[in-house]
Amino acid sequence: MGWYISKIRFKCALILIFGAAVIIVNALNMGMSLRELWDEYGLSAGLMAITGVFLWRPAFEYAKADAAAVWRRWGRHGRRKSKNDFEHVKFARVYANTKYGLMGQPEDGVRVRTTLESCTCRDFTREGLPCKHMCRLAHTLGLYEDEEEENE
Ligand SMILES: [Zn+2]
Repeated sequence: MGWYISKIRFKCALILIFGAAVIIVNALNMGMSLRELWDEYGLSAGLMAITGVFLWRPAFEYAKADAAAVWRRWGRHGRRKSKNDFEHVKFARVYANTKYGLMGQPEDGVRVRTTLESCTCRDFTREGLPCKHMCRLAHTLGLYEDEEEENE
C-alpha cells in the first residue's frame, strides 16, 4: 500500500513509522539490549510509531471497508459520469481488495491515484465529486450503476 502515500498526512505517517523503525534497528545493530533500547529510545520511538499509525488509520479503515457501501455514499453523484466519459481511462494497476487504482502515466503533471473516496486528479481536487477515474474504478470493481447499461 506504500504507493498510496500521496497526501501530506500519509507522508508524515510513513516518515514517523519509518523513523521509529530506523531508531530501533540501528540501536539493535549497535548491540544495545532491549532493556537499554527501551530506556534510551522507548518513549520517542513509541510516540513516533503511535502517531504514525494514528495518522495512517483512515487508509487502514478504507482498505477494510465494504466497497459497495463506500461507493453508495456518493448517491446520485456516483452516477454522474456516463460510460463514455471514463471508458478510455486505463489504470496501470487496480488493487481490488483494497480498492485502489493507479494510473501509469502522469496526467496534467499529476500521478493519478484513485480510491472510491477520492482522487489526486485536478477534477476531483476542484469539484470534490467523483471524477472519471473514480467512476472507472467503481466500474472495474463492479459497482457502477449506469442507467444506459440497464437498457442495453
Ligand atoms: Zn480523478
